Amino acid sequence: MSAIYPAGIDPTTPVALDRCDSYDVDTLETLIRRQLEALGCADMFDGKRVAIKPNMVMKKSPDAAATTHPAVLEAMLRILKERAADIVIAESPGGVYTEQLLRSTYRGCGLAEVAERMEVRLNYDTSARDVEAPDGKTSKMFSLITPILDADVIVNLCKLKSHSLTGYSGAVKNYFGTIPGVQKFEMHARFPDYNDFGSMLVDLCAYHVASKPTFNLLDGIVAMEGNGPTSGTPRKVGCLLSGCNPFTVDRAATAIVDIDGVIMLEEAARRGFCPATASQVKLLSDLTLEDVHVDNFIKPDTVKRPGVGVSMFRILPKLFGGRLYKWLQPRPDIDAKTCVGCGECARSCPRHTIEVQPSKDGKKRAVIAYDACIRCYCCQELCPFKAVKIHKNPIIRLIGG
Ligand code: SF4
Ligand code: SF4
Repeated sequence: MSAIYPAGIDPTTPVALDRCDSYDVDTLETLIRRQLEALGCADMFDGKRVAIKPNMVMKKSPDAAATTHPAVLEAMLRILKERAADIVIAESPGGVYTEQLLRSTYRGCGLAEVAERMEVRLNYDTSARDVEAPDGKTSKMFSLITPILDADVIVNLCKLKSHSLTGYSGAVKNYFGTIPGVQKFEMHARFPDYNDFGSMLVDLCAYHVASKPTFNLLDGIVAMEGNGPTSGTPRKVGCLLSGCNPFTVDRAATAIVDIDGVIMLEEAARRGFCPATASQVKLLSDLTLEDVHVDNFIKPDTVKRPGVGVSMFRILPKLFGGRLYKWLQPRPDIDAKTCVGCGECARSCPRHTIEVQPSKDGKKRAVIAYDACIRCYCCQELCPFKAVKIHKNPIIRLIGG
């Protein structure tokens, strides 16, 4: 494997894997301890400033399987406290990055209760700093939230989920939440091309991994299938994975749920950050990936039929570019029966192409102007009422995409 990142992202970094069927905190603590020992990094937190980066994409109950489960946080905190770490929990959810949003999201996701009980600091500092990423291929500069930058170590508490835009969300994608608030929407606007967006995510993740040690703990106990990362359905997968290289963790996890063609991992493999196939990942486990594999994991409506993890439109050559290319892509549709006109989608749209307008029945509903739509699916991700559906082009449907 060539092209090791200058600061050393090693594609041979191992991944620990265990079966885990419940959110029992004692069981989780035992498994995490065992995985840290197996990975040889149990002392990486000793006396260090540790930022825990949960997945807190929006205010959702833990049962929805969209966000980091509080039991996983609690088990990790037990271990970190023992290691005399100076801990802060920090994340920038979707929406405007304010103290108010942080308070309601920590509470709504069930993380505030754990942090308070365990006397661990929740971050309310909404400042960010610009950093240079000279080794980035697509983006050489990022604005990142302060507590993550100030930490010595990052604990990435990520969730195994399907994702309408990227096909899959796990360890690598979770670092997108280190970009403050609406700047995430700006990144979608800056990189409207699916491949560029994926490459930018690799730059971002590589920046973090090259800057400081990371421990990436992927909760695949109850995952999300279907229209993830927020509108899908919980699906029991029953596994827990971890490693110090988020790219190898994701490479292993995607094989468990049969999601292939994930742009972040294809790009990461080209750069030498992870192996090209899951079978090349060094597993620290008595289990194989086949042992924990689940059948018929449901992909988002934006991607192809079960078993194929990349949609047809994503592999169409650029000669279909411009309007035709866009016309072929699945588009977001507002379900008039479900939409309550709250405007959350309009606020999250990077192209400001959604308006909430009065309808004939006197109610307000969102309306999309498709000319400017870049098919980023942020509206679907952040609609609290699952009112944004995906409409596939009939031609793509016909050819099985
Ligand atoms: S589509 Fe969803 S987010 Fe947008 S206005 Fe309707 S209910 Fe609100
Ligand atoms: S309408 Fe939805 S998919 Fe289109 S640009 Fe706006 S947020 Fe993205």
